[in-house]
Amino acid sequence: MLTTTMPGNAYDVALENFDAAADALGLEKDTREMIKYPERVLTVSVPVRMDDGHIRRFEAYRVQHSTARGPAKGGIRFHPQVTLDEVKALATWMTWKCAVVNIPYGGGKGGVTCDPKHMSQGELERMTRRYTSAILPLIGPQQDIPAPDVYTNSQTMAWIMDTYSMTKGYTIPGVVTGKPIGLGGSLGRNEATGRGVFNTIESACEHLHMTLKGAKVVVQGFGNAGSIAAQLLHDAGARVIAVSDSTGCVYNRDGLNVPELIHMKALCGHVDGFPESEPILPHELLALECDILVPAALENMIHADNAGAVRARIVAEAANGPVTPAADRILESKGVFLIPDILCNAGGVTVSYFEWVQDEQHLFWEAQDIYNRLERVMKTAFREVLKIHIDRNLPMRIAANMLGIGRVAEAVHIRGIYP
Ligand code: NAD
Repeated sequence: MLTTTMPGNAYDVALENFDAAADALGLEKDTREMIKYPERVLTVSVPVRMDDGHIRRFEAYRVQHSTARGPAKGGIRFHPQVTLDEVKALATWMTWKCAVVNIPYGGGKGGVTCDPKHMSQGELERMTRRYTSAILPLIGPQQDIPAPDVYTNSQTMAWIMDTYSMTKGYTIPGVVTGKPIGLGGSLGRNEATGRGVFNTIESACEHLHMTLKGAKVVVQGFGNAGSIAAQLLHDAGARVIAVSDSTGCVYNRDGLNVPELIHMKALCGHVDGFPESEPILPHELLALECDILVPAALENMIHADNAGAVRARIVAEAANGPVTPAADRILESKGVFLIPDILCNAGGVTVSYFEWVQDEQHLFWEAQDIYNRLERVMKTAFREVLKIHIDRNLPMRIAANMLGIGRVAEAVHIRGIYP
């Protein structure tokens, strides 16, 4: 497995970004106190009988950062590096993200500290079901709605939905999104994050008078978000010259054959060894001269020690929190145009919202309808963030946070404090 330096704590980054936007908004202290910190934090112990008969305990979390604008919403991550602080950071970003795209949700996130790559399907299913039962008092279609994140997928969501429904005594598809289509999932959900990333890149190119045709693209992280964004950019005529996953990085200066790379990754589980490519190192990938760099792996990948080497015109944050505040300042000084995570990757939660609406109505929409609605939401949010960026002459990240935090602050003001 590739090791990448991941300095800093994602939750510190989330708080620092909050303060910068709250300062720019001129938010008073009382409002900050009310909206900055998670509303609820749950840590649970998840015992699982492993295939060899012994019992292993996993530490797991569910955090509801905000329910001011609606039910908490956010994915569940299975990864060895999951910590409570990481989950708190991801839940915080979900709150601002849902508000940026103006959907009626708060923010939440869950995680299990585990290594899913070294677990069987049976072990994963037992762990998922026991975790679901442990967080059951918090989740529900009107309370808190999980979805997939790193190393969880539609099968994981099906297990959660089934466990929840069995406990309640009837089938409740709306408790999770990102479900298989046959269980009330939405067309277009699987590719929604990558499609939203693509929509915001199109908007950024329009703003910067750049054309996607022939643009050089580098993608770090070739999972759900990264590979779909790469595919759509490839389809639009861009040249995807390098991609990486946790096993390696591949490079071809003339452009990789993205559909074949996706096919190989699906078959073999890795990108390294792809024909018609040469291997490069992770730090070389980030330093490639390109038009668009898409970090689509994990947090803190671009930091103070490597941001200076980035030679991209646009950085499109498909991942959550891939650029640290110190790296933000370096990229800003180099004139890089940033599409911040809470805007760039909001397509996933937007189509999750569409899925939940369809489940609640028991009425399902066509794929093209979903793509059109998604594009409208993404491009409207991009325009609104860009306007703040230009009018206030502030970085795109601060502008996006101002839009999201401002909407949450407004909701809290209107609701007032109970009791
Ligand atoms: P995924 O599990 O499908 O893919 C993650 C990819 O990152 C894998 O290809 C993995 O090999 C790669 N990776 C891991 N460590 C790496 C490293 N050190 N260097 C290079 N690659 C590495 O996960 P995903 O759903 O695509 O999520 C990726 C990011 O996008 C996360 O930050 C996630 O929170 C964010 N995100 C995902 C969604 C979604 O709907 N899937 C929505 C919003 C944001």
